[in-house]
Amino acid sequence: TADAECPPDSQVLGRATWTFLHTMAAYYPEAADDRQQGMMRSLLTSFSHFYPCGRCASHLREEMAKHPPQVETRAGLAQWMCRTHNSVNVLLGKDEFDCTKVDERWRDGPSDGRCSWAQDVE
Ligand code: FAD
Repeated sequence: TADAECPPDSQVLGRATWTFLHTMAAYYPEAADDRQQGMMRSLLTSFSHFYPCGRCASHLREEMAKHPPQVETRAGLAQWMCRTHNSVNVLLGKDEFDCTKVDERWRDGPSDGRCSWAQDVE
């Protein structure tokens, strides 16, 4: 469609970016070493300055100041990302996502095997 050739609006950009962020968290090291933790902290800090939606980036910086990213473990980062996304969901009047389902949604796929490509990204 023509839309696919248009620059993304904040919705399209947001969906694509959450896909990236949650998937990155889903494949983060189970126990990150100091160097990996530092790199992830600086990635997220830089991200919060350059995300190309001004009000979104500003909200993210506020959230990160209140709740610094948990970069020690994969599970911690995945949960932090889920809570951060939920803070945006609340801001936009959307339902909160059940963070116990984050691995199913972004890494493993549902247990009925319908997503046969799950884990292809590794
Ligand atoms: P999205 O919110 O994009 O979610 C995509 C999919 O992620 C959902 O279908 C669901 O399966 C899953 N999901 C939903 N919540 C969670 C969760 N908590 N944890 C894990 N998975 C989840 N828009 C604004 O208008 N104002 C803002 O201030 C704003 N800030 C943003 C900040 C960031 C860092 C990002 C990446 C986006 C921001 N957006 C903002 C965009 C907004 O979050 C949505 O991406 C956009 O409104 C499209 O929403 P959507 O309903 O398609 O689903």
